Amino acid sequence: MREFDLIVIGAGVAGLTAAMHAARAGLSVAVVERMGAGGQIAAAERIENFPGFPQGVSGAELGPLLHEQAEAAGAEFVLDTVEGIAVDGEWRVVNAASDPINAHAVIVAAGSALRSLGVPGEETFLGRGVSHCASCDGHFFSGQEVCVIGGGDSALDEALVLTEHAACVAIIHRGAAFDAQRVLIDRATKHDKIEIVASTGVEEIVGADSVVGVRLRDLTAGTIHERAVKGVFVYVGLEPNTAFLRGIVALDPAGHIETDIMMRTSVPGIFAAGDVRRHSVAQLAAAAGDGATAAVAAWRYLKERA
Ligand code: NAP
Repeated sequence: MREFDLIVIGAGVAGLTAAMHAARAGLSVAVVERMGAGGQIAAAERIENFPGFPQGVSGAELGPLLHEQAEAAGAEFVLDTVEGIAVDGEWRVVNAASDPINAHAVIVAAGSALRSLGVPGEETFLGRGVSHCASCDGHFFSGQEVCVIGGGDSALDEALVLTEHAACVAIIHRGAAFDAQRVLIDRATKHDKIEIVASTGVEEIVGADSVVGVRLRDLTAGTIHERAVKGVFVYVGLEPNTAFLRGIVALDPAGHIETDIMMRTSVPGIFAAGDVRRHSVAQLAAAAGDGATAAVAAWRYLKERA
């Protein structure tokens, strides 16, 4: 079985920052990732609030830069899916689908997945009008009417991306006001291709071979009506990727990992970083900060037990 000082699970901003810091501190580090480097940012068209990029940077640029920096520091990358972690005395055994890997410490930086809306039609039409990625699928809707569901930063960010392709983008949200950054609210409300549909719930996504519309409920009047759209982009929040940790470390009711301020979980030698942990503010700069803190904490933990 392969052995490392530290295994980092996840190659998003938190994981890559943790790996870079830990490797520079002299630890042997493996990063286990099931897809490519970058995590959620891989699909981000333009990131404007990561320090050091005053003109913004795309996720496709930032992800590989962080990967390169971690690899140059000495971190090794393993493409695999982690199915669980077992504690075996001093070892923390990371059960990856192909082969288990042993380490003395683990940092979980597995990130989050986009939450589903949970209405009829969402699964049926996934890939046939329903999408969770504006930058990947937006061009399929050139000149057409689409809608984005949600009222947070993701919904507004992605609606703005969709204006580059679609004729009209309706942002449908159940609240009376957006819960998002002022800069995004200003851009969305001023954009002539964006229509804001507030206080409105989605009852169903309707179609035949592909999406033809959404059935909406006006939450103030209680009335139902249908709106014709060809594309439905769902951004209704995030779910932490922690199913593989149930029964291993303490999770909050929503599935986030409980940590202290040094990113220590309930199990000695297992740390967590990024939006997988409870109280994360889910911003990229904070994910990088979590990663650095977790790396220092893991290094101290390993030094104390050496
Ligand atoms: P979020 O902030 O949790 O917002 C989710 C939105 O979806 C809310 O408007 C919520 O409405 C709505 N919603 C939830 N469940 C729904 C349902 N079943 N039906 C209809 N609407 C529903 O999620 P997010 O926008 O994905 O952002 C996640 C985190 O990432 C945030 O911390 C955000 O700041 C960060 N982020 C930052 C950037 C950036 O910096 N540019 C970009 C993207 C994301 P209610 O309020 O009524 O629950």
